[in-house]
Order: sequence, then structure tokens, then C-alpha cells
Amino acid sequence: MNPLNELIVRTLPFVPKKVIRHFASRYIAGEKLEDAISVVKKLNEQKKLATIDVLGENITSESEAIEALNTYKLVLNTIKENNLNSDLSIKLTQLGLKLDYDFCYSNVEELVKLAKQLNNIVEIDMEDSSTTEATLKIYKELRSKYDNVGVAIQAYLKRSESDIKSLLPLKPRIRLCKGIYIEPETIAFKRKELINHNFKHLLNILLQSDAYTCIATHDEELINEAYRLIAEYNLTDDKFEFQMLLGVRPELGNRIVSDGHKLRIYVPFGEHWYAYSMRRFRENPQIAGYVFKSIFTR
Ligand code: FAD
Repeated sequence: MNPLNELIVRTLPFVPKKVIRHFASRYIAGEKLEDAISVVKKLNEQKKLATIDVLGENITSESEAIEALNTYKLVLNTIKENNLNSDLSIKLTQLGLKLDYDFCYSNVEELVKLAKQLNNIVEIDMEDSSTTEATLKIYKELRSKYDNVGVAIQAYLKRSESDIKSLLPLKPRIRLCKGIYIEPETIAFKRKELINHNFKHLLNILLQSDAYTCIATHDEELINEAYRLIAEYNLTDDKFEFQMLLGVRPELGNRIVSDGHKLRIYVPFGEHWYAYSMRRFRENPQIAGYVFKSIFTR
């Protein structure tokens, strides 16, 4: 980490919570499900799809996992009742991945089954590299039974090409993103040029395959490359969509929509917004830089 970023990250815990909240409010729908629902309604009015995420990860007891499972079920039912165009994004460590594999699998299967009944989709986020193997195992097992489940793949991981190739026979739904966690150089590309190079390479593989590809980035260089490949392979929108985070580069998102492409916005909500924001700032000092910029340019 460069010294400036290190300084920023070390200073963040001393920034008043209400300042962090002010900053985070752009990126987080709010604390309650109603907050997420009203954000999704607005996005749908702008012809944007959504994926709702309930903040939280790394729970330490089965009761917390069951609580998260019940909240996710409520989210799926509420999406249906309100006739919203939104799917669900989940983190496996919130559903017990670090407690017990089978317990986690059955929680996720319950959600995917409910989503299937409601004609919806569950997207599995990819967390840090200690969870990659188990996450892909759960995904493969589920995908062999259900067609309404997706998984994220991180372009910064050196293993991702071989992971994608092992998933392709399942006609997977894959969200390709750069990756947000701090990983060692032995397993991950660290420099932006290398991550972008791998992202483009993986995107090229995905867009030529039977996968449904979710292109999750705000990086114009990568979005331009996606546009190029989509034109080159003459792809229709049943093969891909773009995805962005709530509050990040909305003008770029508007352009994607006005170009006639599908765009899905990741909408996180929940009481754990402070811990989530701080973790993300620590994990990605570049984001911490945005906090400081927003504090000093208000
Ligand atoms: P960057 O080079 O980081 O950003 C490009 C430009 O976008 C920046 O120059 C800046 O202008 C802007 N920007 C990016 N982030 C922010 C921000 N927070 N605030 C303000 N401006 C910003 N990662 C995982 O590890 N696992 C996941 O499951 C996962 N799911 C994701 C789902 C979606 C829908 C998206 C969009 C991202 C997801 N990510 C996930 C995060 C992803 O891996 C990246 O860390 C993140 O998207 C930033 O990378 P970028 O491709 O936008 O490129």
C-alpha cells in the first residue's frame, strides 16, 4: 500500500461516524428493506434492473445464518409483491460457509428454490480467496439442479481462467468483476494493467461461450472492450448484461442504458452499513480516497 493510502486508511476510524454515514449513503440504500425497495423502484423507473444485497458477512453462529436466511426470503417475497425488476445477491459466509459446508449449502438451496418458485435469480458474491473453492463447489452443485443461480468470478485471481473453464459445461451465469479483497501476489494480479488484461481475456472467453455474462465494472476501458466484443460477436442481450454498484458513476450507467443495453445496479441495505463501509475502505484504499475527496469537497 502506498504511504498516502496507508495514512488515509489509518485515519478513517477517527472520522466521525456521521461523516462516514453521509458518504456511505450514496452507496447504501439505507438500513431497512423499505429503503432498498424505494431505491429499486426508482432504478426500475429509469429502466435499470437491480440486485438487492443484505449487508453482513462472516457470521459466527447458526442462529445468525438463519436470521440472514429469513431476511433474504423476505427480500425475495417483497420483490415479488411489489412487482420489481430485481434479483438477489448473497454472501455465503453470511449463510454459514465458515461454520459448516452442508448447513450453508442447504440454506442457499432453500433460497434458490424459493427464487425459482418466484421466477427470480440468486447471484452468489465471491468473497476472499479462503472461500473460493467452497463457493465454486456449492455453485456447481446448485447449478446442476437449478438454472436460476449465478456466481461472481474475480479477474485479479490467477486461478480464474481455469475456474471459468471448469464452469462452462454447466452453462453458468457468471458475474465478472475485478475483485475487492486484498490478496497476496502469489495468487493474484496486483497491478491495474494486469488485472485489466486478465479481465479482457476472461470476458472474451465468456462472451464466446454458452455462459450468461454479467459485466460488473465502472472502468470505461473495460466497458469499451465489452462493447467491442459484443459488436464483434453480434451478441443479443439474452447473453449478457452490465452491472454497477449503487452510487458509482451513474452517468456512465445512463449511457449504457441509453445505448440499449441491460444494466443492473447492486443495491446493498442493512443495519451493518458502518462495519461494511469501513471494511470496504480498508480492503480498497482507493475507495477510502473517495471518502476523503467527498469530505473535503463538500
Ligand atoms: P476501478 O478501476 O476500481 O474503478 C473504475 C472507476 O470507477 C474509478 O476510476 C472510479 O472513477 C470509479 N469507482 C470505482 N469504485 C468506486 C467507488 N466505490 N466510489 C466511487 N467511484 C468508484 N468484488 C468481489 O470481490 N466480489 C463480488 O462478488 C463483487 N461483486 C460486485 C458486483 C457488482 C455489481 C460490481 C459493480 C462490483 C462488484 N465487486 C465485487 C467489486 C469489484 O470487484 C471492484 O472492486 C469494483 O467494482 C471496482 O472495480 P472497477 O472494475 O469498477 O474498476
